[in-house]
Amino acid sequence: MKLPIYLDYQATTPVDPEVFKTMAPYFTEIFGNAASRNHEFGWTAESAVEKARAQIAHLLGATDKEIIFTSGATESDNLALLGVAELYREKGNHIITTPIEHKAILDTCHHLESKGFTITYLPVNEYGQVTPAMVRDAITPKTILVSIMAANNEVGSINPLAEIGKVCKEKGVLFHTDAAQAVGKIPLNMEEMGIDLLSLSAHKMYGPKGIGAIYVRRRNPRVRLAAIMHGGGHERGMRSGTLNVPGIVGFGKAAEICERTMAAETAHTLRLRERLWAGIRKELDDVYLNGHATERIPGNLNISFAYVEGESLMMGMKELAVSSGSACTSASLEPSYVLKAIGVGEDLAHTSIRFGLGRFTTEEEIDFAIAKVVKTVKKLRDLSPLYEMAKEGIDLKSVQWTGH
Ligand SMILES: *Cc1c(COP(=O)(O)O)cnc(C)c1O
Repeated sequence: MKLPIYLDYQATTPVDPEVFKTMAPYFTEIFGNAASRNHEFGWTAESAVEKARAQIAHLLGATDKEIIFTSGATESDNLALLGVAELYREKGNHIITTPIEHKAILDTCHHLESKGFTITYLPVNEYGQVTPAMVRDAITPKTILVSIMAANNEVGSINPLAEIGKVCKEKGVLFHTDAAQAVGKIPLNMEEMGIDLLSLSAHKMYGPKGIGAIYVRRRNPRVRLAAIMHGGGHERGMRSGTLNVPGIVGFGKAAEICERTMAAETAHTLRLRERLWAGIRKELDDVYLNGHATERIPGNLNISFAYVEGESLMMGMKELAVSSGSACTSASLEPSYVLKAIGVGEDLAHTSIRFGLGRFTTEEEIDFAIAKVVKTVKKLRDLSPLYEMAKEGIDLKSVQWTGH
Protein backbone atom coordinates (compact mmCIF):
# COMPACT_ATOMS: atom_id res chain seq x y z
CA MET A 1 0.00 0.00 0.00
CA LYS A 2 1.40 3.37 -1.05
CA LEU A 3 1.16 6.45 1.18
CA PRO A 4 -0.40 8.98 1.18
CA ILE A 5 -3.73 7.39 0.37
CA TYR A 6 -5.76 9.27 -2.19
CA LEU A 7 -9.25 9.94 -0.82
CA ASP A 8 -10.12 13.07 -2.77
CA TYR A 9 -12.00 11.71 -5.80
CA GLN A 10 -14.37 14.72 -5.84
CA ALA A 11 -11.39 17.01 -6.52
CA THR A 12 -10.12 14.91 -9.39
CA THR A 13 -9.67 11.28 -10.40
CA PRO A 14 -6.65 9.50 -11.84
CA VAL A 15 -6.79 8.74 -15.54
CA ASP A 16 -7.84 5.13 -16.00
CA PRO A 17 -4.94 3.14 -17.55
CA GLU A 18 -7.24 1.99 -20.35
CA VAL A 19 -8.08 5.65 -21.07
CA PHE A 20 -4.41 6.60 -21.11
CA LYS A 21 -3.58 3.77 -23.50
CA THR A 22 -6.34 4.88 -25.88
CA MET A 23 -5.14 8.49 -25.84
CA ALA A 24 -1.43 7.85 -26.33
CA PRO A 25 -1.22 7.52 -30.14
CA TYR A 26 -3.17 10.76 -30.58
CA PHE A 27 -0.24 12.77 -29.24
CA THR A 28 2.26 11.38 -31.72
CA GLU A 29 1.25 9.34 -34.78
CA ILE A 30 -2.37 10.47 -35.08
CA PHE A 31 -1.80 14.17 -34.50
CA GLY A 32 -4.03 15.72 -37.16
CA ASN A 33 -6.27 18.72 -36.71
CA ALA A 34 -9.86 17.51 -36.68
CA ALA A 35 -10.82 20.59 -38.70
CA SER A 36 -8.43 19.78 -41.59
CA ARG A 37 -10.76 18.72 -44.39
CA ASN A 38 -8.20 18.12 -47.10
CA HIS A 39 -6.23 15.09 -45.99
CA GLU A 40 -6.12 11.83 -44.15
CA PHE A 41 -4.56 13.29 -40.97
CA GLY A 42 -7.56 15.53 -40.48
CA TRP A 43 -10.09 12.84 -41.36
CA THR A 44 -8.61 10.35 -38.89
CA ALA A 45 -8.63 12.92 -36.11
CA GLU A 46 -12.18 13.92 -36.94
CA SER A 47 -13.46 10.36 -36.89
CA ALA A 48 -11.80 9.81 -33.50
CA VAL A 49 -13.54 12.94 -32.18
CA GLU A 50 -16.88 11.75 -33.55
CA LYS A 51 -16.45 8.36 -31.92
CA ALA A 52 -15.81 10.05 -28.57
CA ARG A 53 -18.81 12.32 -29.06
CA ALA A 54 -20.99 9.26 -29.61
CA GLN A 55 -19.60 7.54 -26.50
CA ILE A 56 -20.42 10.58 -24.34
CA ALA A 57 -23.84 11.06 -25.94
CA HIS A 58 -24.66 7.41 -25.27
CA LEU A 59 -23.82 7.71 -21.58
CA LEU A 60 -26.26 10.64 -21.31
CA GLY A 61 -29.02 9.27 -23.50
CA ALA A 62 -28.41 12.16 -25.91
CA THR A 63 -27.72 12.43 -29.63
CA ASP A 64 -24.20 13.06 -30.90
CA LYS A 65 -24.90 16.55 -32.19
CA GLU A 66 -26.04 17.63 -28.74
CA ILE A 67 -22.51 17.26 -27.31
CA ILE A 68 -20.23 20.33 -27.52
CA PHE A 69 -16.64 19.97 -26.34
CA THR A 70 -15.20 22.57 -23.95
CA SER A 71 -12.16 22.80 -21.68
CA GLY A 72 -14.08 21.50 -18.65
CA ALA A 73 -17.12 21.99 -16.48
CA THR A 74 -16.10 25.53 -15.51
CA GLU A 75 -16.27 26.59 -19.13
CA SER A 76 -19.47 24.62 -19.71
CA ASP A 77 -21.11 26.35 -16.74
CA ASN A 78 -20.02 29.75 -18.06
CA LEU A 79 -21.27 28.91 -21.53
CA ALA A 80 -24.65 27.73 -20.25
CA LEU A 81 -25.33 30.79 -18.12
CA LEU A 82 -23.77 33.51 -20.28
CA GLY A 83 -24.95 31.88 -23.50
CA VAL A 84 -28.58 31.67 -22.36
CA ALA A 85 -28.49 35.08 -20.68
CA GLU A 86 -27.40 36.76 -23.91
CA LEU A 87 -29.80 35.03 -26.28
CA TYR A 88 -32.92 34.96 -24.09
CA ARG A 89 -32.56 38.48 -22.73
CA GLU A 90 -35.67 39.72 -24.57
CA LYS A 91 -37.69 37.03 -22.82
CA GLY A 92 -36.48 37.89 -19.34
CA ASN A 93 -33.61 38.57 -16.98
CA HIS A 94 -34.32 36.15 -14.14
CA ILE A 95 -32.25 33.03 -13.32
CA ILE A 96 -32.83 30.54 -10.50
CA THR A 97 -29.99 28.65 -8.84
CA THR A 98 -28.85 27.55 -5.35
CA PRO A 99 -26.34 28.98 -2.89
CA ILE A 100 -24.33 25.73 -2.84
CA GLU A 101 -23.39 25.55 -6.52
CA HIS A 102 -19.77 25.31 -7.61
CA LYS A 103 -17.99 28.66 -7.90
CA ALA A 104 -18.13 28.31 -11.68
CA ILE A 105 -21.88 28.89 -11.39
CA LEU A 106 -21.91 31.32 -8.46
CA ASP A 107 -19.22 33.64 -9.80
CA THR A 108 -20.86 33.68 -13.22
CA CYS A 109 -24.18 34.54 -11.55
CA HIS A 110 -22.53 37.41 -9.68
CA HIS A 111 -21.17 38.66 -12.99
CA LEU A 112 -24.65 38.49 -14.51
CA GLU A 113 -26.09 40.41 -11.55
CA SER A 114 -23.67 43.22 -12.35
CA LYS A 115 -25.11 43.20 -15.89
CA GLY A 116 -28.69 43.67 -14.71
CA PHE A 117 -29.85 40.08 -14.26
CA THR A 118 -31.77 39.02 -11.18
CA ILE A 119 -30.68 35.78 -9.57
CA THR A 120 -32.74 33.81 -7.06
CA TYR A 121 -30.65 31.60 -4.79
CA LEU A 122 -33.12 28.98 -3.59
CA PRO A 123 -32.61 27.89 -0.01
CA VAL A 124 -31.56 24.25 0.30
CA ASN A 125 -32.69 21.76 2.93
CA GLU A 126 -30.43 20.40 5.68
CA TYR A 127 -28.97 17.90 3.20
CA GLY A 128 -28.23 20.38 0.46
CA GLN A 129 -31.19 19.64 -1.80
CA VAL A 130 -33.91 21.73 -3.39
CA THR A 131 -37.48 20.58 -3.87
CA PRO A 132 -39.39 20.79 -7.17
CA ALA A 133 -42.09 22.83 -5.37
CA MET A 134 -39.55 25.45 -4.40
CA VAL A 135 -38.39 25.69 -7.97
CA ARG A 136 -41.98 26.05 -9.20
CA ASP A 137 -42.74 28.80 -6.69
CA ALA A 138 -39.64 30.77 -7.68
CA ILE A 139 -40.39 30.82 -11.41
CA THR A 140 -41.77 34.14 -12.70
CA PRO A 141 -42.74 35.27 -16.21
CA LYS A 142 -39.23 36.76 -16.42
CA THR A 143 -37.42 33.48 -15.63
CA ILE A 144 -35.26 32.21 -18.49
CA LEU A 145 -33.14 29.55 -16.80
CA VAL A 146 -33.02 27.23 -13.81
CA SER A 147 -29.49 26.01 -12.97
CA ILE A 148 -29.32 23.40 -10.23
CA MET A 149 -26.43 21.02 -9.69
CA ALA A 150 -26.97 17.29 -10.07
CA ALA A 151 -24.78 16.33 -7.10
CA ASN A 152 -22.92 18.59 -4.72
CA ASN A 153 -19.13 18.39 -4.77
CA GLU A 154 -18.72 18.78 -1.00
CA VAL A 155 -21.54 16.84 0.61
CA GLY A 156 -22.48 14.62 -2.34
CA SER A 157 -26.24 15.17 -2.12
CA ILE A 158 -28.23 14.44 -5.27
CA ASN A 159 -31.08 16.70 -6.40
CA PRO A 160 -34.41 15.38 -7.76
CA LEU A 161 -33.49 16.19 -11.35
CA ALA A 162 -36.38 14.50 -13.14
CA GLU A 163 -38.95 16.29 -10.98
CA ILE A 164 -37.23 19.65 -11.40
CA GLY A 165 -37.00 19.03 -15.14
CA LYS A 166 -40.73 18.37 -15.22
CA VAL A 167 -41.51 21.65 -13.47
CA CYS A 168 -39.26 23.55 -15.90
CA LYS A 169 -40.97 21.91 -18.89
CA GLU A 170 -44.41 22.80 -17.54
CA LYS A 171 -43.33 26.40 -17.10
CA GLY A 172 -41.42 26.63 -20.37
CA VAL A 173 -38.15 27.51 -18.66
CA LEU A 174 -34.76 26.08 -19.64
CA PHE A 175 -33.13 23.66 -17.17
CA HIS A 176 -29.36 23.48 -16.81
CA THR A 177 -27.54 21.15 -14.41
CA ASP A 178 -23.88 21.12 -13.40
CA ALA A 179 -23.36 17.36 -13.38
CA ALA A 180 -19.57 17.25 -12.99
CA GLN A 181 -19.94 15.06 -9.89
CA ALA A 182 -22.78 12.92 -11.21
CA VAL A 183 -21.90 11.87 -14.74
CA GLY A 184 -20.58 8.34 -14.78
CA LYS A 185 -21.55 7.83 -11.13
CA ILE A 186 -25.35 7.76 -11.30
CA PRO A 187 -27.61 7.07 -14.29
CA LEU A 188 -28.58 10.24 -16.15
CA ASN A 189 -30.93 10.55 -19.10
CA MET A 190 -31.54 13.89 -20.76
CA GLU A 191 -34.93 12.89 -22.14
CA GLU A 192 -36.34 11.26 -19.01
CA MET A 193 -35.04 14.03 -16.78
CA GLY A 194 -36.11 16.95 -18.96
CA ILE A 195 -32.60 18.41 -18.96
CA ASP A 196 -31.89 21.09 -21.59
CA LEU A 197 -28.25 21.84 -20.75
CA LEU A 198 -25.74 19.77 -18.76
CA SER A 199 -22.11 20.44 -17.82
CA LEU A 200 -19.60 17.62 -17.44
CA SER A 201 -15.88 17.23 -16.96
CA ALA A 202 -13.54 14.39 -17.98
CA HIS A 203 -11.21 14.59 -15.00
CA LYS A 204 -14.00 13.79 -12.53
CA MET A 205 -14.71 10.52 -14.33
CA TYR A 206 -11.26 8.99 -14.89
CA GLY A 207 -10.48 11.01 -18.01
CA PRO A 208 -7.84 13.69 -18.50
CA LYS A 209 -7.89 17.26 -17.15
CA GLY A 210 -8.65 20.23 -19.36
CA ILE A 211 -11.43 18.64 -21.36
CA GLY A 212 -15.16 18.71 -20.77
CA ALA A 213 -18.42 19.11 -22.58
CA ILE A 214 -21.83 20.64 -22.49
CA TYR A 215 -24.98 18.86 -23.57
CA VAL A 216 -27.22 21.27 -25.50
CA ARG A 217 -30.73 20.02 -26.34
CA ARG A 218 -31.62 20.09 -30.05
CA ARG A 219 -35.33 19.19 -29.98
CA ASN A 220 -38.29 20.14 -27.75
CA PRO A 221 -37.01 22.79 -27.42
CA ARG A 222 -34.01 23.56 -29.58
CA VAL A 223 -31.74 25.45 -27.17
CA ARG A 224 -29.76 28.38 -28.54
CA LEU A 225 -26.51 29.52 -26.92
CA ALA A 226 -24.45 32.61 -27.64
CA ALA A 227 -20.77 31.69 -27.89
CA ILE A 228 -18.27 33.09 -25.43
CA MET A 229 -15.31 31.95 -27.54
CA HIS A 230 -15.24 33.29 -31.09
CA GLY A 231 -13.04 32.02 -33.88
CA GLY A 232 -13.17 29.26 -36.43
CA GLY A 233 -16.77 28.27 -35.79
CA HIS A 234 -15.92 24.85 -34.36
CA GLU A 235 -18.53 22.89 -32.43
CA ARG A 236 -21.44 24.29 -34.43
CA GLY A 237 -20.31 27.82 -33.67
CA MET A 238 -20.83 27.42 -29.94
CA ARG A 239 -17.19 26.92 -29.04
CA SER A 240 -14.41 27.90 -31.39
CA GLY A 241 -10.86 26.65 -31.02
CA THR A 242 -8.89 23.68 -32.33
CA LEU A 243 -10.18 20.55 -30.67
CA ASN A 244 -8.06 18.80 -28.04
CA VAL A 245 -8.11 15.49 -29.89
CA PRO A 246 -6.15 13.31 -27.40
CA GLY A 247 -8.21 14.75 -24.53
CA ILE A 248 -11.45 14.13 -26.37
CA VAL A 249 -10.45 10.55 -27.25
CA GLY A 250 -9.66 9.91 -23.59
CA PHE A 251 -12.90 11.56 -22.48
CA GLY A 252 -14.88 9.31 -24.83
CA LYS A 253 -13.13 6.20 -23.57
CA ALA A 254 -13.72 7.29 -19.96
CA ALA A 255 -17.43 7.68 -20.71
CA GLU A 256 -17.58 4.23 -22.30
CA ILE A 257 -15.90 2.63 -19.27
CA CYS A 258 -18.20 4.46 -16.85
CA GLU A 259 -21.26 3.27 -18.70
CA ARG A 260 -19.98 -0.31 -18.82
CA THR A 261 -18.88 -0.51 -15.17
CA MET A 262 -21.31 1.81 -13.38
CA ALA A 263 -23.25 -0.89 -11.55
CA ALA A 264 -20.19 -2.80 -10.36
CA GLU A 265 -18.36 0.35 -9.46
CA THR A 266 -21.27 1.72 -7.46
CA ALA A 267 -21.36 -1.52 -5.50
CA HIS A 268 -17.61 -1.40 -4.88
CA THR A 269 -17.55 2.25 -3.82
CA LEU A 270 -20.68 2.00 -1.67
CA ARG A 271 -19.35 -1.02 0.15
CA LEU A 272 -16.11 0.78 1.00
CA ARG A 273 -17.94 3.95 2.01
CA GLU A 274 -20.19 1.97 4.37
CA ARG A 275 -17.13 0.25 5.79
CA LEU A 276 -15.42 3.60 6.41
CA TRP A 277 -18.48 5.18 8.05
CA ALA A 278 -19.22 2.11 10.17
CA GLY A 279 -15.57 1.78 11.19
CA ILE A 280 -15.43 5.40 12.34
CA ARG A 281 -18.76 5.30 14.18
CA LYS A 282 -17.86 2.10 15.96
CA GLU A 283 -14.90 3.75 17.65
CA LEU A 284 -15.95 7.39 17.95
CA ASP A 285 -18.95 9.21 19.37
CA ASP A 286 -20.03 12.74 18.40
CA VAL A 287 -19.40 12.31 14.69
CA TYR A 288 -21.96 13.72 12.25
CA LEU A 289 -22.73 12.95 8.65
CA ASN A 290 -23.09 15.99 6.37
CA GLY A 291 -25.42 15.57 3.42
CA HIS A 292 -28.10 12.98 2.76
CA ALA A 293 -27.62 9.44 4.06
CA THR A 294 -28.76 7.69 0.89
CA GLU A 295 -29.46 10.31 -1.80
CA ARG A 296 -25.78 10.96 -2.38
CA ILE A 297 -23.13 9.93 -4.89
CA PRO A 298 -21.52 6.64 -3.87
CA GLY A 299 -17.98 7.99 -3.51
CA ASN A 300 -18.67 10.78 -1.02
CA LEU A 301 -18.54 10.70 2.76
CA ASN A 302 -18.50 14.05 4.55
CA ILE A 303 -18.19 13.91 8.32
CA SER A 304 -17.84 16.45 11.12
CA PHE A 305 -15.91 15.48 14.23
CA ALA A 306 -17.04 17.41 17.31
CA TYR A 307 -14.54 18.60 19.93
CA VAL A 308 -11.47 18.60 17.75
CA GLU A 309 -9.74 21.39 15.90
CA GLY A 310 -9.90 21.17 12.12
CA GLU A 311 -6.31 22.20 11.48
CA SER A 312 -4.95 19.75 14.03
CA LEU A 313 -7.10 16.98 12.62
CA MET A 314 -5.75 17.51 9.10
CA MET A 315 -2.19 17.79 10.43
CA GLY A 316 -2.59 14.58 12.39
CA MET A 317 -3.55 12.49 9.38
CA LYS A 318 -1.18 13.57 6.66
CA GLU A 319 -1.12 10.04 5.27
CA LEU A 320 -4.67 10.65 4.04
CA ALA A 321 -5.23 12.94 1.07
CA VAL A 322 -8.65 14.33 2.01
CA SER A 323 -10.39 17.70 1.86
CA SER A 324 -11.45 19.76 4.85
CA GLY A 325 -14.49 21.96 5.31
CA SER A 326 -12.47 24.96 6.30
CA ALA A 327 -10.53 26.66 3.59
CA CYS A 328 -7.29 26.55 5.52
CA THR A 329 -5.32 27.04 2.32
CA SER A 330 -6.60 30.59 2.08
CA ALA A 331 -5.64 33.35 4.49
CA SER A 332 -9.16 33.48 5.88
CA LEU A 333 -10.34 30.62 8.04
CA GLU A 334 -13.83 30.85 6.57
CA PRO A 335 -15.74 27.60 6.87
CA SER A 336 -17.22 26.10 3.71
CA TYR A 337 -20.13 28.09 2.28
CA VAL A 338 -21.84 24.81 1.44
CA LEU A 339 -21.83 23.56 5.01
CA LYS A 340 -22.97 26.97 6.22
CA ALA A 341 -25.89 26.96 3.79
CA ILE A 342 -27.09 23.54 4.97
CA GLY A 343 -27.05 24.75 8.56
CA VAL A 344 -23.89 23.12 9.90
CA GLY A 345 -22.61 25.29 12.76
CA GLU A 346 -19.27 27.01 12.50
CA ASP A 347 -17.51 24.60 14.88
CA LEU A 348 -18.67 21.48 13.10
CA ALA A 349 -17.97 23.01 9.70
CA HIS A 350 -14.38 23.64 10.73
CA THR A 351 -13.90 20.01 11.71
CA SER A 352 -15.51 18.45 8.66
CA ILE A 353 -13.61 16.12 6.40
CA ARG A 354 -14.61 15.06 2.90
CA PHE A 355 -13.55 11.52 2.08
CA GLY A 356 -13.73 10.91 -1.68
CA LEU A 357 -13.63 7.25 -2.67
CA GLY A 358 -13.52 5.82 -6.14
CA ARG A 359 -12.57 3.20 -8.68
CA PHE A 360 -9.10 2.47 -7.35
CA THR A 361 -9.78 2.70 -3.61
CA THR A 362 -9.06 -0.58 -1.81
CA GLU A 363 -10.33 -2.18 1.38
CA GLU A 364 -6.82 -2.08 2.78
CA GLU A 365 -6.69 1.68 2.25
CA ILE A 366 -10.04 2.15 3.94
CA ASP A 367 -8.96 0.10 6.94
CA PHE A 368 -5.82 2.18 7.22
CA ALA A 369 -7.91 5.36 6.96
CA ILE A 370 -10.30 4.20 9.71
CA ALA A 371 -7.43 3.44 12.08
CA LYS A 372 -5.75 6.76 11.31
CA VAL A 373 -8.89 8.85 11.79
CA VAL A 374 -9.86 7.09 15.01
CA LYS A 375 -6.41 7.40 16.50
CA THR A 376 -6.05 11.07 15.58
CA VAL A 377 -9.48 12.12 16.84
CA LYS A 378 -9.05 10.20 20.11
CA LYS A 379 -5.68 11.78 20.69
CA LEU A 380 -7.02 15.29 20.07
CA ARG A 381 -10.03 14.72 22.27
CA ASP A 382 -7.84 13.44 25.10
CA LEU A 383 -6.27 16.90 25.08
CA SER A 384 -9.57 18.73 24.80
CA PRO A 385 -11.12 20.22 27.95
CA LEU A 386 -14.33 20.78 25.98
CA TYR A 387 -14.69 17.09 25.23
CA GLU A 388 -14.04 16.23 28.86
CA MET A 389 -16.68 18.70 30.04
CA ALA A 390 -19.19 17.42 27.51
CA LYS A 391 -18.59 13.87 28.68
CA GLU A 392 -19.16 14.96 32.26
CA GLY A 393 -22.58 16.16 31.17
CA ILE A 394 -21.87 19.87 31.28
CA ASP A 395 -23.95 21.81 28.76
CA LEU A 396 -21.25 23.78 26.96
CA LYS A 397 -23.74 26.38 25.80
CA SER A 398 -24.52 27.30 29.40
CA VAL A 399 -20.89 27.86 30.36
CA GLN A 400 -19.91 31.46 31.09
CA TRP A 401 -16.57 31.84 29.35
CA THR A 402 -14.07 34.36 30.65
CA GLY A 403 -10.65 35.49 29.59
CA HIS A 404 -11.24 35.86 25.85
C1 LIG B 1 -14.99 19.97 -10.62
C2 LIG B 1 -16.26 20.69 -10.74
C3 LIG B 1 -16.41 21.76 -11.63
C4 LIG B 1 -15.26 22.31 -12.44
O1 LIG B 1 -14.85 21.41 -13.41
P1 LIG B 1 -13.50 21.66 -14.23
O2 LIG B 1 -13.58 20.69 -15.34
O3 LIG B 1 -12.40 21.36 -13.28
O4 LIG B 1 -13.50 23.07 -14.68
C5 LIG B 1 -17.65 22.37 -11.72
N1 LIG B 1 -18.68 21.93 -10.99
C6 LIG B 1 -18.58 20.90 -10.13
C7 LIG B 1 -19.79 20.46 -9.37
C8 LIG B 1 -17.37 20.25 -9.97
O5 LIG B 1 -17.27 19.25 -9.10
